[in-house]
Amino acid sequence: MVEGIQSVSQVTSWLVSGRTLFLAIHILGVACFAYIVAKRLVPLLRAERDLRFDRPLVRLERVFKFWLGQWKHPRYKTAGTLHILIFAGFILLAMRAFAVLIVGVSQNFVMPGLSGRAGQIYDVITDYAATVVFLCMVVAVIRRLVFKPARYEVPARFGKAHTADAVFLLALIAILMVADSLFEAAKAAGQSQLGQPVETLAVLSLPWILQIALLPVATATIGKVYAGAYLLHEVTFYFLLCYRPFGIQFHVETSLFNVYFAKLDREILKPVRWGVSDEHLDQVKSFGVKTFEDFTWKHMLDFYSCADCGRCSDNCPSNAVGRPLSPRFLTIKARDYAFQHYPMFRHSDVGSGSGNGNSKPLIGHLYSEDEIWSCTTCGACEEECPLLVEYIDKIVDLRRGLIDDGNVPQSLQKPLKALESRGNPYGKMEKKKADWANAKEFQQVCQVKTLGKSNGADTLYFVDSITSYDDRMQSIGRATAKILDHVGENFGILGAAERDSGHEVRRFGEELLFTALRDHNVEAIKASGVKKIVTADPHAFNALKHDYKDVPEVEHISQVIAREVKTGKIKFNPLESRDKVYTYHDPCYLGRHNQVYDDPREVLDAIPGLKRVEMSRSRDRSFCCGGGGLMLFYEPKEEQRMGVKRVQMAAEAGANVIVTACPFCMVNLEDAIKVAGLEGKMTAIDLAELVDQEMVREGQKAV
Ligand code: SF4
Ligand code: SF4
Repeated sequence: MVEGIQSVSQVTSWLVSGRTLFLAIHILGVACFAYIVAKRLVPLLRAERDLRFDRPLVRLERVFKFWLGQWKHPRYKTAGTLHILIFAGFILLAMRAFAVLIVGVSQNFVMPGLSGRAGQIYDVITDYAATVVFLCMVVAVIRRLVFKPARYEVPARFGKAHTADAVFLLALIAILMVADSLFEAAKAAGQSQLGQPVETLAVLSLPWILQIALLPVATATIGKVYAGAYLLHEVTFYFLLCYRPFGIQFHVETSLFNVYFAKLDREILKPVRWGVSDEHLDQVKSFGVKTFEDFTWKHMLDFYSCADCGRCSDNCPSNAVGRPLSPRFLTIKARDYAFQHYPMFRHSDVGSGSGNGNSKPLIGHLYSEDEIWSCTTCGACEEECPLLVEYIDKIVDLRRGLIDDGNVPQSLQKPLKALESRGNPYGKMEKKKADWANAKEFQQVCQVKTLGKSNGADTLYFVDSITSYDDRMQSIGRATAKILDHVGENFGILGAAERDSGHEVRRFGEELLFTALRDHNVEAIKASGVKKIVTADPHAFNALKHDYKDVPEVEHISQVIAREVKTGKIKFNPLESRDKVYTYHDPCYLGRHNQVYDDPREVLDAIPGLKRVEMSRSRDRSFCCGGGGLMLFYEPKEEQRMGVKRVQMAAEAGANVIVTACPFCMVNLEDAIKVAGLEGKMTAIDLAELVDQEMVREGQKAV
C-alpha cells in the first residue's frame, strides 16, 4: 500500500480494524440480500407452475441478444442509448466492484488475469465506464425531473408515480460511481505526493479529475478521503443491493432470469394449466387467474422485472384511445400487490392457490373488468418491452377466470351463444356458409367447389365466419378465390362443414368452446384430404398455424400472391389513377404475431405506377385497428376509436388509400373513415381485392 496512506483493511477506527469492519459489512450485506431475495421468492413458490426449462441453448441465445445485447433498447433512441451505456458500464465495472470489495479484507487482492498490463488497460476502461455511468445518472435524473417524457406520467386512476424512488436509486448509483472514482483518485494522488509510481488513470475520467483536485491536499487528508471513499463505496454498494428489490430497480437482479425464462413461442397461447392436456380440461376445478397466486411463477417474475419504462403503454392502442387499460400498470399494480401482501418482515397475509386462503379476487380489487376486456391482444406491448414481459397470456388468463365465474360482457353473450349453437358469431345457418361462392354472377367467372368425399382438392381455402357471412367482406372471399383460380390452384372450401376458427373465442378466454370449434374443424380438414390451407383472414391464419395441431401447412393469401408475383403467374396492369397514394396497414395477426411484413409490401410495389408511403407506425409498431373477431361486438369505454386514430395516421402520411389484408381491419377502417369525416377523401381496400382488380387476366396484356 501507499506509504502514508494506510490500506483500508488496516485502518483502525473505534478499536475496530478495517478488515473486521469490512468483513462484517460483507457478511451483513450478503445476509440481508439473501433474506430479501428469499422473501421475494415466497409468492413465486406459491404460484401456478409454468414449464420454462426447455431449449436451454435457444434461451441462452436470447439472453445474449435481448439481455447482453440490449436488442430492443435502441427502439427509443435517447432512453435506449442511456440504458445501453449504463448497462455496458455496469458489466464492465462488475469485476472492478468485486475486486474493490475484496480489497477491504485482503489488501493485496488482484483479480486473476488483471495484473500487469491487462490490469492497467482494464483500469483505464473502467475509469471511463464509471465516468459514463455517472454522467448517465445525471442525465437520467434531469430527464425524470425536468424533461419528463409523457410515458413516465402516472394517471391518477393507476396510482402514484414512482419518481422519487427512481431518482433516489439513480442518485445512489451516482454516489457509488463517485465513491469508486474517489477511492482510485485518492490512491493515485497519494502515490504522486510520495513520489511513487502512479497508477494510470484515464485522462478526463472522473477519477482523473478527482485526482487533480486532491493533489494539493495534505497526504494525511488524502488518507482519510481514501478510507472514507472506500467505506462510502461499501455501504452504498450493499444498500443498493438490498434496496433494489423494494422498487423498480429490482429488474437489475431479475432481468437476466426474466429474459432466460421468457416465452419462446410467443404466438401460442399458454394452456389453461401447464401439464393438463385438452382432454383433461373438464377436470380442472378453476379456470384462469382469479387471485394473485393463480398467476404462474414466471408471470410473477415479470412483475418484479418491469423497469417501469412505460414503453408498453406508450405503444398500447387501448391506452392511446383512453380505454381503461395500460399494460404497464397491470404489472405495476401486481408488483405493488406482491410487495404489500408478501411483506418483508411479517408473514404473508394470503393463502395459496385458486381462491384458497384469504386472497382477494383480483377483479374488483386490483383490476376492473373493463380493463381486462379492453385488450385487443395486438401484441404491441410485448413487441416493445426490452425485458420481454408478457401480457397476452396474463390477460387471457384473467379473462378465463372471468368467464369461469360467468362474468361475460353483455354485448358478447349473444355472439358467444351463437358460436356455441351455430359455429359462427352471427347465428347464421351453416348451410348458408358457401352462399358467397354460389352467387350466379360469381360462378360465371370462378367456380369454387365445396370439398366432400367425391370432391377433393390439393388446397383448402379456409374462409372463416366474417368473410362467409358479412356482405361487404364476401368480396374479399371472392377476390381470394379468383386469385387462387388464376394461379391454377386446385382448391375448394369446406362450406357448411367449416366452423369459426375460434381464434377470438380462445383469446376471450372461452377455452372449452374453442376446443369444440377447433376439433370440429380439424376433423373436417382431415376428412377433406387437402395438402395445404390458404386463408385471407389473419385470425384464422394464426389459429390454424398455432392453435391447431395436425393440420396441413397454412399460408396467408398475401404470401401466395407474393410468391406468384415472383414466379410471373401474377402480373399487373399499370395503375390508371396517378393521384392515389397507398399505405399498407399491417394487421396485428399477420404482422406482429407472424412476421409477415414484406410479402404484402412486395405485392404493392410490384403494381406499376402504385405510389406507396409508410405510416409512422408500421410493421412491428403497427397500430391496431380496433381488434378483430369478437371485438367487433364489444363496446369498450373509450375516448376515441382506434380505427379513427389509424386512418388519421394514414392521412398524416399523405395516403388516401389504406390497403390491408384482413377482413376485420376492413370493417374497422371503413367505419373509421366515415367517423373521421374522410369519406370521399380516403378509401380502404383489401390486398386480395386490389390484386384481383389490377392483375392481368388471360387474353389481357400488361402494358
Ligand atoms: S396486447 Fe395490445 S391492446 Fe393488449 S395490452 Fe398489449 S398493447 Fe395493449
Ligand atoms: S412491462 Fe416492459 S415495456 Fe412495460 S413498463 Fe415494464 S419494462 Fe417497460
